[in-house]
Amino acid sequence: MIEGRVKARLASRRNITSALAVFTVEPEAKIRFRPGQYVALGIRDRGELIERDYSIVSSPHEDFLEFFVERVDDGHLTARLFELETGAGVLVKSPGGMFFLDRESGHPHHLMIATVTGIAPFLSMVRTLAIDGGKGMPVGMGVTLLHGVSYADEFGYDVELRRMTTHHPWLTYIPAVSRPSETSAWHGETGRVETLIEKTLDSLQWTARDTTAYLCGHPGMIEQGKKILLDRDFPQTQIREEQYWEET
Ligand SMILES: Cc1cc2nc3c(=O)[nH]c(=O)nc-3n(C[C@H](O)[C@H](O)[C@H](O)COP(=O)(O)OP(=O)(O)OC[C@H]3O[C@@H](n4cnc5c(N)ncnc54)[C@H](O)[C@@H]3O)c2cc1C
Repeated sequence: MIEGRVKARLASRRNITSALAVFTVEPEAKIRFRPGQYVALGIRDRGELIERDYSIVSSPHEDFLEFFVERVDDGHLTARLFELETGAGVLVKSPGGMFFLDRESGHPHHLMIATVTGIAPFLSMVRTLAIDGGKGMPVGMGVTLLHGVSYADEFGYDVELRRMTTHHPWLTYIPAVSRPSETSAWHGETGRVETLIEKTLDSLQWTARDTTAYLCGHPGMIEQGKKILLDRDFPQTQIREEQYWEET
């Protein structure tokens, strides 16, 4: 431990695009968290600790921490993170956040809406449901995951999620591309992900009476998505949000 942070090693990196990558990190001590939470990842640079929050992709059942990170132009932490070699040291601060799966309301339906890396906490939730389900714990809910990106090569987890849907009938995955004209091979949903909320609720026949909604990632998507859900009579208490940055 250094200054309340656990020392960890960058174990692997999988490039999705030049600005998106999946990192796995092995902490020296077990870090306990709940699906949906985030940790601060820190890098020391010339004596200065640079630290930012990242939602955890992995399930608490897995032995490593996994993150889906977008490199921000001139970003203090991400510029450095994307230059690290595997084996490099990072620091992990204890988990935070209350962006949990709603198990209290008893709602049978859960609509999760993400932009790009905002899929991270939902992956932790669905991986955990799948692992627990495999151990005989009934999932007892339907989960639909709407994932929006600009270009079709930015999903990062589409292969895993499509595979999961074939094994887990409780899971529906709907990827959407907002700039399809520049992505000739795309045959799926198009448009900004929040524009699919109403269509998805209608086709599933999920309503504000029986559904909890979750929004994660881009501040603009969260604002627009929330408006759409409020207009569909979702009470604020049935809309959970995790915003990654402030709109300037
Ligand atoms: C609870 C929480 C969970 C988060 N989880 C993730 C995650 O799983 N994956 C991930 O990539 N990021 C995540 N973030 C964002 C992350 O904490 C950093 O803000 C981001 O990586 C940029 O850090 P930086 O030091 O490189 O940029 P900074 O030097 O801090 O500059 C950030 C500025 O760039 C702008 N910006 C443009 N695009 C982005 C963007 N995609 N993210 C943040 N700022 C942006 C904003 O105006 C922001 O003020 C999360 C944030 C929060 C609050």
